[in-house]
Amino acid sequence: MYDVAIIGAGITGCSLAYELGKYNVKAVVIEKENDVSVGTTKANSAIIHGGYDPIPGSAMAKYNVEGNKYIHELCAKLDVPFKEIGALIVAFEEEEKVKLEELQERGKINGVPSMEMWDQKKLRQEEPNISDDAIQALYSPNVGIVSPWELAIALGEVAAQNGVEFKLDTEVTDIKKENDTYKIETNEGTVEAKFICNAAGVFADKVNEYVNKKSFTIEPNKGEYYLLDKSQGTLVNHVIFQCPNQYGKGVLVSPTVHGNLIVGPDSQPSAGEDVSTSTQGLSFVRNTALKSIPNINFRESIRNFAGVRARTKEDDFFIFEDKENKGFINISGMASPGLSSAPAIAIDVLKMMENSGLELNAKDSIIDTRKINRFKKLDEDKRAELVKQNPLYGKIICRCETITEGEIVDAIHRPIPATSIDAVKRRCNAGMGRCQGGFCGPRVQEIISRELNIPLADVPQDRKGMNIITGETKEGGTK
Ligand SMILES: Cc1cc2nc3c(=O)[nH]c(=O)nc-3n(C[C@H](O)[C@H](O)[C@H](O)COP(=O)(O)OP(=O)(O)OC[C@H]3O[C@@H](n4cnc5c(N)ncnc54)[C@H](O)[C@@H]3O)c2cc1C
Repeated sequence: MYDVAIIGAGITGCSLAYELGKYNVKAVVIEKENDVSVGTTKANSAIIHGGYDPIPGSAMAKYNVEGNKYIHELCAKLDVPFKEIGALIVAFEEEEKVKLEELQERGKINGVPSMEMWDQKKLRQEEPNISDDAIQALYSPNVGIVSPWELAIALGEVAAQNGVEFKLDTEVTDIKKENDTYKIETNEGTVEAKFICNAAGVFADKVNEYVNKKSFTIEPNKGEYYLLDKSQGTLVNHVIFQCPNQYGKGVLVSPTVHGNLIVGPDSQPSAGEDVSTSTQGLSFVRNTALKSIPNINFRESIRNFAGVRARTKEDDFFIFEDKENKGFINISGMASPGLSSAPAIAIDVLKMMENSGLELNAKDSIIDTRKINRFKKLDEDKRAELVKQNPLYGKIICRCETITEGEIVDAIHRPIPATSIDAVKRRCNAGMGRCQGGFCGPRVQEIISRELNIPLADVPQDRKGMNIITGETKEGGTK
Protein backbone atom coordinates (compact mmCIF):
# COMPACT_ATOMS: atom_id res chain seq x y z
CA MET A 1 0.00 0.00 0.00
CA TYR A 2 1.35 3.39 -1.01
CA ASP A 3 0.66 6.62 0.80
CA VAL A 4 0.50 8.53 -2.50
CA ALA A 5 0.10 7.45 -6.12
CA ILE A 6 0.81 10.06 -8.80
CA ILE A 7 -0.77 9.35 -12.19
CA GLY A 8 1.34 10.79 -15.03
CA ALA A 9 5.08 11.49 -15.25
CA GLY A 10 5.21 14.85 -17.02
CA ILE A 11 6.52 18.00 -15.35
CA THR A 12 3.52 17.96 -12.97
CA GLY A 13 3.96 14.36 -11.84
CA CYS A 14 7.75 14.63 -11.61
CA SER A 15 7.54 17.87 -9.57
CA LEU A 16 5.18 16.15 -7.13
CA ALA A 17 7.50 13.13 -6.93
CA TYR A 18 10.48 15.41 -6.26
CA GLU A 19 8.72 17.18 -3.37
CA LEU A 20 7.36 13.92 -1.90
CA GLY A 21 10.84 12.39 -2.02
CA LYS A 22 11.87 14.81 0.74
CA TYR A 23 9.49 13.13 3.24
CA ASN A 24 9.01 9.71 4.80
CA VAL A 25 6.17 8.91 2.46
CA LYS A 26 5.75 5.76 0.34
CA ALA A 27 5.03 7.19 -3.11
CA VAL A 28 4.72 5.82 -6.63
CA VAL A 29 4.44 7.45 -10.05
CA ILE A 30 2.35 5.53 -12.58
CA GLU A 31 3.03 6.36 -16.25
CA LYS A 32 1.52 4.66 -19.28
CA GLU A 33 4.54 5.32 -21.52
CA ASN A 34 8.06 3.86 -21.37
CA ASP A 35 9.70 7.05 -20.06
CA VAL A 36 9.01 10.18 -18.07
CA SER A 37 8.35 13.42 -19.96
CA VAL A 38 6.87 12.03 -23.16
CA GLY A 39 3.53 13.88 -23.09
CA THR A 40 3.10 17.66 -23.44
CA THR A 41 6.19 18.23 -21.30
CA LYS A 42 8.47 17.30 -24.17
CA ALA A 43 6.65 19.39 -26.83
CA ASN A 44 6.14 23.03 -25.93
CA SER A 45 7.82 26.43 -26.33
CA ALA A 46 10.25 25.72 -23.45
CA ILE A 47 9.77 29.16 -21.93
CA ILE A 48 9.77 29.88 -18.21
CA HIS A 49 7.23 32.65 -18.42
CA GLY A 50 7.49 35.87 -16.45
CA GLY A 51 3.93 35.95 -15.08
CA TYR A 52 2.68 39.20 -16.67
CA ASP A 53 0.15 37.44 -18.92
CA PRO A 54 -2.24 35.54 -16.56
CA ILE A 55 -5.27 37.36 -15.13
CA PRO A 56 -4.48 38.71 -11.64
CA GLY A 57 -5.93 36.50 -8.92
CA SER A 58 -5.93 33.38 -11.11
CA ALA A 59 -4.08 30.18 -10.18
CA MET A 60 -1.98 30.74 -13.32
CA ALA A 61 -0.84 34.16 -12.07
CA LYS A 62 0.08 32.87 -8.60
CA TYR A 63 1.94 29.74 -9.64
CA ASN A 64 3.65 31.25 -12.69
CA VAL A 65 5.32 33.94 -10.58
CA GLU A 66 6.23 31.50 -7.78
CA GLY A 67 7.35 28.84 -10.26
CA ASN A 68 9.55 31.25 -12.20
CA LYS A 69 11.61 31.94 -9.06
CA TYR A 70 11.70 28.30 -7.94
CA ILE A 71 12.81 27.02 -11.37
CA HIS A 72 15.88 29.28 -11.28
CA GLU A 73 16.92 27.51 -8.07
CA LEU A 74 15.99 24.00 -9.28
CA CYS A 75 17.88 24.26 -12.58
CA ALA A 76 21.02 25.45 -10.79
CA LYS A 77 21.09 22.61 -8.28
CA LEU A 78 19.89 19.85 -10.62
CA ASP A 79 22.20 20.79 -13.52
CA VAL A 80 19.39 21.51 -16.00
CA PRO A 81 20.08 23.78 -19.01
CA PHE A 82 18.41 27.15 -18.31
CA LYS A 83 19.10 30.74 -19.38
CA GLU A 84 17.36 33.88 -18.19
CA ILE A 85 17.35 35.79 -21.48
CA GLY A 86 14.25 37.96 -20.95
CA ALA A 87 11.26 38.42 -23.26
CA LEU A 88 10.03 41.20 -25.52
CA ILE A 89 6.36 41.55 -26.31
CA VAL A 90 6.26 43.54 -29.50
CA ALA A 91 3.64 46.02 -30.74
CA PHE A 92 3.22 46.61 -34.49
CA GLU A 93 0.18 48.94 -34.36
CA GLU A 94 -0.60 52.01 -32.24
CA GLU A 95 -3.55 50.16 -30.62
CA GLU A 96 -1.23 47.40 -29.46
CA LYS A 97 0.70 49.88 -27.33
CA VAL A 98 -2.35 50.02 -25.07
CA LYS A 99 -2.25 46.24 -24.75
CA LEU A 100 1.42 46.42 -23.73
CA GLU A 101 0.55 48.92 -21.00
CA GLU A 102 -2.20 46.59 -19.77
CA LEU A 103 0.29 43.71 -19.66
CA GLN A 104 2.79 45.83 -17.74
CA GLU A 105 0.08 46.75 -15.23
CA ARG A 106 -0.96 43.10 -14.90
CA GLY A 107 2.68 42.18 -14.38
CA LYS A 108 2.96 44.71 -11.56
CA ILE A 109 -0.17 43.33 -9.86
CA ASN A 110 1.08 39.75 -10.26
CA GLY A 111 4.46 40.66 -8.73
CA VAL A 112 6.65 40.47 -11.86
CA PRO A 113 9.86 42.43 -11.22
CA SER A 114 11.58 45.14 -13.32
CA MET A 115 9.43 45.26 -16.47
CA GLU A 116 10.28 48.13 -18.85
CA MET A 117 8.76 49.69 -21.95
CA TRP A 118 11.25 49.97 -24.84
CA ASP A 119 10.84 52.44 -27.70
CA GLN A 120 11.65 51.54 -31.30
CA LYS A 121 15.25 52.79 -31.07
CA LYS A 122 16.10 50.71 -27.99
CA LEU A 123 14.29 47.70 -29.47
CA ARG A 124 16.38 47.89 -32.69
CA GLN A 125 19.59 48.28 -30.67
CA GLU A 126 18.90 45.14 -28.66
CA GLU A 127 17.29 43.14 -31.48
CA PRO A 128 18.91 44.15 -34.79
CA ASN A 129 16.84 41.60 -36.78
CA ILE A 130 13.46 42.82 -35.56
CA SER A 131 11.02 43.95 -38.26
CA ASP A 132 10.97 47.65 -39.21
CA ASP A 133 7.24 47.52 -38.47
CA ALA A 134 7.85 46.86 -34.75
CA ILE A 135 7.20 50.14 -32.95
CA GLN A 136 7.48 49.36 -29.24
CA ALA A 137 8.11 46.46 -26.87
CA LEU A 138 7.49 45.49 -23.29
CA TYR A 139 10.62 43.93 -21.76
CA SER A 140 10.31 41.32 -19.02
CA PRO A 141 13.81 40.36 -17.84
CA ASN A 142 12.79 37.39 -15.66
CA VAL A 143 11.68 35.20 -18.61
CA GLY A 144 13.90 32.17 -19.20
CA ILE A 145 14.46 29.35 -21.65
CA VAL A 146 14.86 25.80 -20.38
CA SER A 147 15.18 22.23 -21.55
CA PRO A 148 11.69 21.14 -20.41
CA TRP A 149 12.19 17.39 -20.68
CA GLU A 150 15.54 17.60 -18.87
CA LEU A 151 13.87 19.51 -16.02
CA ALA A 152 11.21 16.81 -15.65
CA ILE A 153 13.79 14.01 -15.95
CA ALA A 154 16.03 15.69 -13.33
CA LEU A 155 13.14 16.04 -10.87
CA GLY A 156 12.15 12.42 -11.52
CA GLU A 157 15.69 11.11 -11.15
CA VAL A 158 16.23 12.86 -7.82
CA ALA A 159 12.82 11.63 -6.62
CA ALA A 160 13.78 8.07 -7.61
CA GLN A 161 17.06 8.37 -5.70
CA ASN A 162 15.09 9.55 -2.68
CA GLY A 163 12.91 6.44 -2.80
CA VAL A 164 9.92 7.35 -5.00
CA GLU A 165 9.01 4.38 -7.23
CA PHE A 166 8.35 4.79 -10.95
CA LYS A 167 6.07 2.29 -12.67
CA LEU A 168 6.51 2.94 -16.40
CA ASP A 169 4.55 1.17 -19.16
CA THR A 170 1.69 1.09 -16.68
CA GLU A 171 -1.65 2.53 -17.78
CA VAL A 172 -4.37 3.37 -15.27
CA THR A 173 -7.62 1.91 -16.59
CA ASP A 174 -9.95 2.33 -13.60
CA ILE A 175 -10.01 3.45 -9.97
CA LYS A 176 -12.21 2.12 -7.17
CA LYS A 177 -12.52 3.45 -3.66
CA GLU A 178 -12.90 0.98 -0.78
CA ASN A 179 -13.19 2.63 2.63
CA ASP A 180 -10.16 4.95 2.76
CA THR A 181 -8.15 3.14 0.09
CA TYR A 182 -8.01 3.72 -3.64
CA LYS A 183 -7.58 0.61 -5.78
CA ILE A 184 -5.97 1.72 -9.01
CA GLU A 185 -6.45 -0.77 -11.82
CA THR A 186 -3.67 -0.89 -14.40
CA ASN A 187 -2.52 -3.16 -17.22
CA GLU A 188 0.13 -4.36 -14.73
CA GLY A 189 -2.24 -5.18 -11.86
CA THR A 190 -3.78 -3.26 -8.95
CA VAL A 191 -1.97 -0.52 -7.06
CA GLU A 192 -3.35 0.57 -3.69
CA ALA A 193 -2.89 4.07 -2.30
CA LYS A 194 -4.39 6.39 0.31
CA PHE A 195 -3.94 9.52 -1.82
CA ILE A 196 -4.04 10.00 -5.58
CA CYS A 197 -2.61 12.96 -7.51
CA ASN A 198 -4.13 13.05 -10.97
CA ALA A 199 -1.43 14.58 -13.20
CA ALA A 200 -2.51 12.88 -16.42
CA GLY A 201 -2.30 15.94 -18.69
CA VAL A 202 -4.73 15.81 -21.61
CA PHE A 203 -6.28 12.68 -20.06
CA ALA A 204 -6.83 14.20 -16.59
CA ASP A 205 -10.60 14.44 -17.22
CA LYS A 206 -10.75 10.74 -18.11
CA VAL A 207 -8.79 9.74 -14.98
CA ASN A 208 -11.02 12.01 -12.87
CA GLU A 209 -14.12 10.26 -14.21
CA TYR A 210 -12.86 6.89 -12.93
CA VAL A 211 -13.60 8.18 -9.41
CA ASN A 212 -15.96 11.02 -9.85
CA LYS A 213 -18.91 12.28 -11.77
CA LYS A 214 -17.79 14.50 -14.61
CA SER A 215 -16.51 17.75 -13.06
CA PHE A 216 -14.39 19.15 -15.88
CA THR A 217 -13.58 18.54 -19.50
CA ILE A 218 -10.20 18.91 -21.17
CA GLU A 219 -10.45 20.51 -24.59
CA PRO A 220 -7.15 19.51 -26.22
CA ASN A 221 -5.62 22.25 -28.31
CA LYS A 222 -2.62 21.68 -30.53
CA GLY A 223 0.32 23.96 -31.33
CA GLU A 224 2.78 23.30 -34.17
CA TYR A 225 6.43 24.36 -34.37
CA TYR A 226 9.54 24.73 -36.45
CA LEU A 227 12.92 23.94 -34.92
CA LEU A 228 15.73 25.52 -36.91
CA ASP A 229 19.42 24.75 -37.16
CA LYS A 230 21.97 26.53 -34.98
CA SER A 231 22.82 28.77 -37.95
CA GLN A 232 19.55 30.59 -37.04
CA GLY A 233 19.97 30.33 -33.25
CA THR A 234 21.50 33.79 -32.83
CA LEU A 235 18.96 35.73 -34.92
CA VAL A 236 17.30 36.94 -31.71
CA ASN A 237 18.65 37.60 -28.23
CA HIS A 238 15.37 37.44 -26.32
CA VAL A 239 12.13 35.50 -26.52
CA ILE A 240 10.16 37.55 -29.07
CA PHE A 241 6.38 37.49 -28.56
CA GLN A 242 3.75 39.37 -30.48
CA CYS A 243 0.83 40.91 -28.54
CA PRO A 244 -1.32 38.11 -27.08
CA ASN A 245 -4.74 37.62 -28.68
CA GLN A 246 -7.81 35.42 -28.16
CA TYR A 247 -5.77 32.36 -29.20
CA GLY A 248 -3.21 32.84 -26.42
CA LYS A 249 0.34 34.07 -26.34
CA GLY A 250 0.70 33.79 -30.12
CA VAL A 251 3.67 32.82 -32.27
CA LEU A 252 7.07 33.36 -30.67
CA VAL A 253 10.62 33.34 -32.00
CA SER A 254 13.26 32.32 -29.48
CA PRO A 255 16.69 30.81 -29.11
CA THR A 256 16.66 27.42 -27.35
CA VAL A 257 19.02 26.43 -24.54
CA HIS A 258 20.65 24.08 -27.04
CA GLY A 259 21.46 26.92 -29.46
CA ASN A 260 18.71 26.39 -32.06
CA LEU A 261 15.84 28.69 -33.00
CA ILE A 262 12.28 27.69 -32.08
CA VAL A 263 9.33 29.22 -33.92
CA GLY A 264 5.66 28.61 -33.02
CA PRO A 265 3.05 27.66 -31.94
CA ASP A 266 -0.33 28.04 -33.62
CA SER A 267 -3.53 27.08 -31.85
CA GLN A 268 -6.09 24.58 -33.12
CA PRO A 269 -8.57 22.17 -31.49
CA SER A 270 -7.25 18.61 -31.56
CA ALA A 271 -8.07 15.10 -30.48
CA GLY A 272 -6.33 13.56 -27.46
CA GLU A 273 -2.65 13.06 -28.06
CA ASP A 274 -2.63 13.87 -31.80
CA VAL A 275 0.75 15.50 -32.39
CA SER A 276 0.76 15.45 -36.18
CA THR A 277 1.82 18.61 -38.03
CA SER A 278 0.06 20.10 -41.05
CA THR A 279 0.91 22.29 -44.03
CA GLN A 280 -1.77 24.74 -42.93
CA GLY A 281 -0.59 24.99 -39.33
CA LEU A 282 3.07 25.34 -40.27
CA SER A 283 2.50 27.93 -42.96
CA PHE A 284 0.50 30.03 -40.44
CA VAL A 285 3.42 29.75 -37.98
CA ARG A 286 5.96 30.66 -40.67
CA ASN A 287 4.07 33.69 -41.97
CA THR A 288 3.26 35.01 -38.51
CA ALA A 289 6.86 34.66 -37.30
CA LEU A 290 8.19 36.51 -40.36
CA LYS A 291 6.16 39.51 -39.23
CA SER A 292 8.48 39.73 -36.17
CA ILE A 293 11.78 38.59 -37.71
CA PRO A 294 11.64 38.87 -41.52
CA ASN A 295 14.99 37.20 -42.21
CA ILE A 296 14.42 33.79 -40.61
CA ASN A 297 15.68 31.24 -43.13
CA PHE A 298 13.10 28.45 -42.94
CA ARG A 299 15.22 26.32 -45.28
CA GLU A 300 17.35 25.74 -42.18
CA SER A 301 14.46 23.91 -40.49
CA ILE A 302 15.61 20.61 -38.97
CA ARG A 303 12.37 19.43 -37.39
CA ASN A 304 8.67 20.14 -37.06
CA PHE A 305 6.70 19.00 -34.05
CA ALA A 306 3.45 19.66 -32.19
CA GLY A 307 2.32 19.65 -28.56
CA VAL A 308 -1.17 19.47 -27.08
CA ARG A 309 -2.47 21.95 -24.48
CA ALA A 310 -4.69 20.47 -21.76
CA ARG A 311 -7.10 23.42 -21.77
CA THR A 312 -10.36 23.68 -19.83
CA LYS A 313 -13.23 26.13 -20.43
CA GLU A 314 -12.17 28.07 -17.32
CA ASP A 315 -8.78 28.76 -18.96
CA ASP A 316 -7.03 28.34 -15.61
CA PHE A 317 -5.29 25.56 -13.71
CA PHE A 318 -7.84 23.40 -11.91
CA ILE A 319 -6.22 22.15 -8.70
CA PHE A 320 -8.55 20.74 -6.07
CA GLU A 321 -9.27 17.85 -3.74
CA ASP A 322 -12.47 16.13 -4.75
CA LYS A 323 -15.21 16.98 -2.21
CA GLU A 324 -16.77 13.52 -2.25
CA ASN A 325 -13.51 11.62 -2.57
CA LYS A 326 -11.10 12.71 0.12
CA GLY A 327 -7.50 12.20 -0.88
CA PHE A 328 -8.17 12.40 -4.64
CA ILE A 329 -6.49 15.52 -5.99
CA ASN A 330 -6.78 16.82 -9.54
CA ILE A 331 -3.94 18.89 -10.93
CA SER A 332 -5.56 19.65 -14.24
CA GLY A 333 -6.09 22.30 -16.89
CA MET A 334 -2.30 22.38 -17.15
CA ALA A 335 -2.08 24.51 -20.27
CA SER A 336 0.62 27.17 -20.61
CA PRO A 337 2.22 28.39 -18.29
CA GLY A 338 2.07 24.88 -16.79
CA LEU A 339 5.75 24.12 -17.32
CA SER A 340 6.70 27.33 -15.50
CA SER A 341 4.24 26.66 -12.69
CA ALA A 342 4.30 22.90 -11.95
CA PRO A 343 7.20 22.94 -9.45
CA ALA A 344 5.43 25.61 -7.36
CA ILE A 345 2.06 23.85 -7.66
CA ALA A 346 3.64 20.66 -6.28
CA ILE A 347 4.56 22.41 -3.02
CA ASP A 348 0.94 23.50 -2.49
CA VAL A 349 -0.46 20.08 -3.42
CA LEU A 350 1.66 18.56 -0.65
CA LYS A 351 0.11 21.08 1.76
CA MET A 352 -3.37 20.08 0.53
CA MET A 353 -2.59 16.43 1.21
CA GLU A 354 -1.17 17.26 4.64
CA ASN A 355 -4.37 19.15 5.51
CA SER A 356 -6.25 16.06 4.42
CA GLY A 357 -4.33 13.73 6.73
CA LEU A 358 -1.07 12.83 4.96
CA GLU A 359 1.78 12.74 7.46
CA LEU A 360 4.76 14.67 6.12
CA ASN A 361 7.82 13.92 8.25
CA ALA A 362 11.01 15.20 6.62
CA LYS A 363 13.71 12.58 5.92
CA ASP A 364 16.98 12.93 7.86
CA SER A 365 18.94 13.16 4.64
CA ILE A 366 18.05 13.38 0.96
CA ILE A 367 19.81 13.76 -2.37
CA ASP A 368 19.12 17.23 -3.72
CA THR A 369 21.78 17.84 -6.36
CA ARG A 370 22.66 16.30 -9.69
CA LYS A 371 25.71 16.61 -11.93
CA ILE A 372 25.82 15.38 -15.52
CA ASN A 373 29.03 14.80 -17.51
CA ARG A 374 28.64 17.02 -20.61
CA PHE A 375 31.83 16.33 -22.57
CA LYS A 376 31.54 19.20 -25.04
CA LYS A 377 31.16 21.78 -22.26
CA LEU A 378 34.45 20.73 -20.59
CA ASP A 379 37.88 22.28 -21.15
CA GLU A 380 40.70 20.18 -22.62
CA ASP A 381 42.13 19.14 -19.24
CA LYS A 382 38.78 17.99 -17.86
CA ARG A 383 38.08 16.09 -21.10
CA ALA A 384 41.43 14.29 -20.86
CA GLU A 385 40.77 13.43 -17.20
CA LEU A 386 37.35 12.00 -18.08
CA VAL A 387 38.72 9.91 -20.96
CA LYS A 388 41.45 8.58 -18.63
CA GLN A 389 38.81 7.51 -16.11
CA ASN A 390 36.66 5.89 -18.79
CA PRO A 391 37.81 5.56 -22.44
CA LEU A 392 34.17 5.55 -23.61
CA TYR A 393 34.24 9.36 -23.13
CA GLY A 394 36.85 9.40 -25.88
CA LYS A 395 34.47 7.95 -28.51
CA ILE A 396 32.22 10.50 -30.22
CA ILE A 397 28.96 8.87 -31.30
CA CYS A 398 26.84 11.94 -32.16
CA ARG A 399 29.05 14.07 -34.38
CA CYS A 400 26.59 16.96 -34.76
CA GLU A 401 26.36 17.54 -30.99
CA THR A 402 29.71 16.01 -29.90
CA ILE A 403 28.15 13.42 -27.61
CA THR A 404 30.36 10.56 -26.45
CA GLU A 405 29.62 6.90 -25.86
CA GLY A 406 30.35 7.52 -22.16
CA GLU A 407 27.48 10.01 -21.93
CA ILE A 408 25.13 7.64 -23.76
CA VAL A 409 26.02 4.77 -21.41
CA ASP A 410 25.45 7.13 -18.45
CA ALA A 411 21.99 8.02 -19.82
CA ILE A 412 21.07 4.34 -20.10
CA HIS A 413 22.06 3.65 -16.48
CA ARG A 414 20.68 6.78 -14.80
CA PRO A 415 18.08 6.39 -11.96
CA ILE A 416 15.26 6.35 -14.53
CA PRO A 417 16.97 4.44 -17.33
CA ALA A 418 16.74 5.45 -20.99
CA THR A 419 15.41 2.46 -22.95
CA SER A 420 14.71 4.07 -26.34
CA ILE A 421 16.74 6.11 -28.82
CA ASP A 422 14.72 9.26 -28.04
CA ALA A 423 15.01 8.67 -24.29
CA VAL A 424 18.81 8.79 -24.74
CA LYS A 425 18.38 11.96 -26.82
CA ARG A 426 16.32 13.60 -24.07
CA ARG A 427 19.00 12.83 -21.47
CA CYS A 428 22.24 13.65 -23.29
CA ASN A 429 21.27 15.29 -26.63
CA ALA A 430 22.61 12.54 -28.94
CA GLY A 431 20.58 12.93 -32.15
CA MET A 432 19.53 16.53 -31.49
CA GLY A 433 21.75 18.06 -34.16
CA ARG A 434 21.37 18.86 -37.80
CA CYS A 435 21.15 15.24 -38.97
CA GLN A 436 18.52 14.49 -36.27
CA GLY A 437 20.01 11.10 -35.48
CA GLY A 438 20.43 9.99 -39.10
CA PHE A 439 24.03 8.96 -38.41
CA CYS A 440 24.13 8.23 -34.68
CA GLY A 441 20.65 6.69 -34.27
CA PRO A 442 21.71 3.13 -35.27
CA ARG A 443 24.83 3.38 -33.04
CA VAL A 444 22.72 4.51 -30.08
CA GLN A 445 20.37 1.61 -30.76
CA GLU A 446 23.29 -0.84 -30.62
CA ILE A 447 24.60 0.66 -27.38
CA ILE A 448 21.16 0.39 -25.71
CA SER A 449 20.86 -3.22 -26.90
CA ARG A 450 24.33 -4.05 -25.54
CA GLU A 451 23.94 -2.24 -22.22
CA LEU A 452 20.45 -3.57 -21.43
CA ASN A 453 21.18 -6.96 -22.95
CA ILE A 454 18.07 -6.91 -25.13
CA PRO A 455 17.68 -7.76 -28.85
CA LEU A 456 18.42 -4.86 -31.21
CA ALA A 457 14.92 -5.14 -32.69
CA ASP A 458 13.44 -4.50 -29.22
CA VAL A 459 14.95 -1.00 -28.97
CA PRO A 460 12.28 1.47 -30.13
CA GLN A 461 12.77 4.94 -31.56
CA ASP A 462 10.60 6.38 -28.76
CA ARG A 463 7.37 4.99 -27.34
CA LYS A 464 6.76 1.26 -27.07
CA GLY A 465 5.79 -0.13 -30.48
CA MET A 466 7.74 2.50 -32.43
CA ASN A 467 10.19 -0.16 -33.59
CA ILE A 468 12.71 0.62 -36.29
CA ILE A 469 13.78 -2.86 -37.29
CA THR A 470 11.94 -6.16 -37.09
CA GLY A 471 14.88 -8.59 -37.14
CA GLU A 472 17.99 -9.70 -39.03
CA THR A 473 17.96 -9.51 -42.84
CA LYS A 474 17.31 -12.96 -44.37
CA GLU A 475 16.54 -14.29 -40.86
CA GLY A 476 14.61 -17.54 -41.25
CA GLY A 477 15.25 -17.56 -45.00
CA THR A 478 16.81 -20.42 -47.02
CA LYS A 479 20.59 -20.76 -46.91
C1 LIG B 1 2.06 24.24 -27.75
C2 LIG B 1 2.37 24.37 -26.30
C3 LIG B 1 3.25 25.35 -25.84
C4 LIG B 1 3.51 25.48 -24.48
N1 LIG B 1 4.48 26.36 -24.08
C5 LIG B 1 4.74 26.49 -22.76
C6 LIG B 1 5.77 27.34 -22.32
O1 LIG B 1 6.53 27.90 -23.10
N2 LIG B 1 5.92 27.54 -20.99
C7 LIG B 1 5.10 26.94 -20.08
O2 LIG B 1 5.23 27.20 -18.89
N3 LIG B 1 4.16 26.04 -20.46
C8 LIG B 1 3.98 25.79 -21.78
N4 LIG B 1 3.05 24.89 -22.19
C9 LIG B 1 2.32 24.11 -21.19
C10 LIG B 1 3.18 22.97 -20.64
O3 LIG B 1 3.85 22.29 -21.67
C11 LIG B 1 2.26 22.02 -19.88
O4 LIG B 1 1.56 22.76 -18.91
C12 LIG B 1 2.99 20.91 -19.17
O5 LIG B 1 3.92 20.27 -19.99
C13 LIG B 1 1.96 19.91 -18.66
O6 LIG B 1 2.65 18.90 -17.98
P1 LIG B 1 1.85 17.71 -17.34
O7 LIG B 1 2.82 16.93 -16.56
O8 LIG B 1 0.67 18.24 -16.60
O9 LIG B 1 1.28 16.89 -18.57
P2 LIG B 1 2.04 15.87 -19.54
O10 LIG B 1 3.43 16.27 -19.79
O11 LIG B 1 1.18 15.66 -20.72
O12 LIG B 1 2.10 14.54 -18.68
C14 LIG B 1 0.96 13.76 -18.43
C15 LIG B 1 1.39 12.31 -18.40
O13 LIG B 1 0.30 11.50 -17.97
C16 LIG B 1 0.39 10.27 -18.65
N5 LIG B 1 -0.92 9.62 -18.60
C17 LIG B 1 -2.07 10.07 -19.18
N6 LIG B 1 -3.07 9.19 -18.93
C18 LIG B 1 -2.54 8.18 -18.18
C19 LIG B 1 -3.06 6.97 -17.64
N7 LIG B 1 -4.36 6.62 -17.80
N8 LIG B 1 -2.24 6.15 -16.95
C20 LIG B 1 -0.92 6.49 -16.77
N9 LIG B 1 -0.37 7.61 -17.29
C21 LIG B 1 -1.17 8.46 -17.98
C22 LIG B 1 0.82 10.69 -20.05
O14 LIG B 1 1.40 9.61 -20.77
C23 LIG B 1 1.82 11.79 -19.76
O15 LIG B 1 3.14 11.33 -19.70
C24 LIG B 1 2.82 24.68 -23.55
C25 LIG B 1 1.96 23.68 -24.01
C26 LIG B 1 1.77 23.50 -25.37
C27 LIG B 1 0.93 22.38 -25.85
